Amino acid sequence: MGAPSHQGLRSRVGKIITSDEAQRINFTLDGVHIDGSGFYYVALALLPKGKAAGGIDFVVKQMGPGFGAQYDPRKNNFEFPNENYGLDDDERALIVHESTHALIDARRRTTSMIVSEMCAYISQACYYDALGQSLRDSSDPIFAEADKIATGITNERLGNGAMGNVTLTGTTVAGLRAAILGDPAYAAVAANPGGSYGESGVPLRRGG
Ligand SMILES: [Zn+2]
Repeated sequence: MGAPSHQGLRSRVGKIITSDEAQRINFTLDGVHIDGSGFYYVALALLPKGKAAGGIDFVVKQMGPGFGAQYDPRKNNFEFPNENYGLDDDERALIVHESTHALIDARRRTTSMIVSEMCAYISQACYYDALGQSLRDSSDPIFAEADKIATGITNERLGNGAMGNVTLTGTTVAGLRAAILGDPAYAAVAANPGGSYGESGVPLRRGG
């Protein structure tokens, strides 16, 4: 028997990150640009091509405490707890979060762990905003801070009538940074916030 193809996960993740809601995400933080074309690249990297090397693969496994899903930038793997992941809005938003880590890896841009997490949570919150749902009432301070930033991005766009890139400043994200560093699930990030997750690029699979 060959390795499982994870076809359901593959097509679900691809659909979510190429959806209108995800494609509206467009911001820059600390020189890292997160946008729809980046998510399209990640979607291309999901396409299965037999035994060809490259691309992003899927691993289904039990997740560690505090994590619903993960992206491993060293192996270029998405890790999910089951094959049916991504069927509700919370799981879809977390897929946008993990795909943001993959996008940063694909751009082969060594980024500090704290900036990578801030970008991932802001993407997640922007996606919820585009769905018409707010994270603002959440008791989780990370979500509350990320939602404030996403709302600010939306308001800035409404103000100038543009759909373009919004550059975020250190002041704008200070609350989110503190919330992530204060969360026990990110103790490893807090111990070395300037360290990197090991972004090494995501080559696309090549045909025969
Ligand atoms: Zn993350």
